[in-house]
Amino acid sequence: KFNSVIHNFNAGPSILPREVFQQASEAILDFNNMGLSILEIGHRTDAFQSVMDEAQSLLKELMQLNDSKKVLFLHGGASTQFFQVPMNLLDDNATGAYLDCGTWGIKAIKEAKLFGNVNVVASSKDRNYSYIPRQYTIPDDAAYFHYTTNNTIEGTQVAGIPDTHVPLVADMSSDILSEEMDFNRFSLIYAGAQKNIGAAGVNIVVVDEAILGKVNRKLPTMMDYREHIKNGSMLNTPPVFAVYVCMLTLRWLKKQGGVAGIQKINDQKAGLLYSTLESLPMFRLPVPIEDRSKMNVVFTMPDVETEKEFLSVCKSNGMYGVKGHRSVGGFRISLYNALPLSSVEAITDLIKDFAQKKG
Ligand code: PLP
Repeated sequence: KFNSVIHNFNAGPSILPREVFQQASEAILDFNNMGLSILEIGHRTDAFQSVMDEAQSLLKELMQLNDSKKVLFLHGGASTQFFQVPMNLLDDNATGAYLDCGTWGIKAIKEAKLFGNVNVVASSKDRNYSYIPRQYTIPDDAAYFHYTTNNTIEGTQVAGIPDTHVPLVADMSSDILSEEMDFNRFSLIYAGAQKNIGAAGVNIVVVDEAILGKVNRKLPTMMDYREHIKNGSMLNTPPVFAVYVCMLTLRWLKKQGGVAGIQKINDQKAGLLYSTLESLPMFRLPVPIEDRSKMNVVFTMPDVETEKEFLSVCKSNGMYGVKGHRSVGGFRISLYNALPLSSVEAITDLIKDFAQKKG
């Protein structure tokens, strides 16, 4: 039953809707019936300007952003934001508050320390980052509070938005647009596009203009968000194709009923997978229920031999990308927006079948 198609559970770069792959391929050969490839048109042409405009306005619409929020498409991946954020928002003698909840947050903290003081308000390091700390205080005088909404590697996700008056900054690389939230509560949101929004090579920054221009240091032009805002994300040659793929994926998301529509399917997908794993004693879920990620489901098995066997059964049945990150071990099944419910049904059937055969 499950080996007639390929199922892609990769953590990223990840699956996109089939229709997006189709449309993107067509645009490589002939973009908008121009007789030119999307890869060879000038980024200052009307044709590309309308791609950039539509991508920005779709993102604003899908996130229901107010007018003080500016949408940018930048280079350098989310990893560049780890330092671009403090460079723009954190003065030498100021303090940024950070939540230490896993691999990506650790990297963000390391970079912030290059620019100012860092106050780690809470950490889940004591239990190998397998939970989200709840009890912590964010100092009122912090320049901002930074956290990772979804910990891609550890399989944890922050439920709700922390209650603070301090400007909120979030790395939403692995769960952006997967469920409804008040995106306007954030002063700055960033995300690598390659999981829920589009192709690798571009990252999305949503920033409230009001928080910019307050640090004393001089900023290199390419690092200054205000310059990118002024130039409509075209300060230099933008990642044209990656932005185009984002635009196509955002169009697709709108057709699914936007964030509310996709959330319903995401809830079903995560619900089915977690309940299947929980019903079978062979599988262990390291993350407590209230902190479980709906995007990256992490689980282990009692012994390495059974894990190896399970991995090979997955491979021979066309289930790709299920191996866990080396720092956590076991398995990780990623359920990003474009992954259809049918793929989750296929892997849960396989999981049940495997558990039954192993007795
Ligand atoms: N932040 C999170 C939550 C991620 O999952 C990743 C990559 O998987 C990154 C940051 C780094 O993104 P990039 O490779 O675009 O720099």
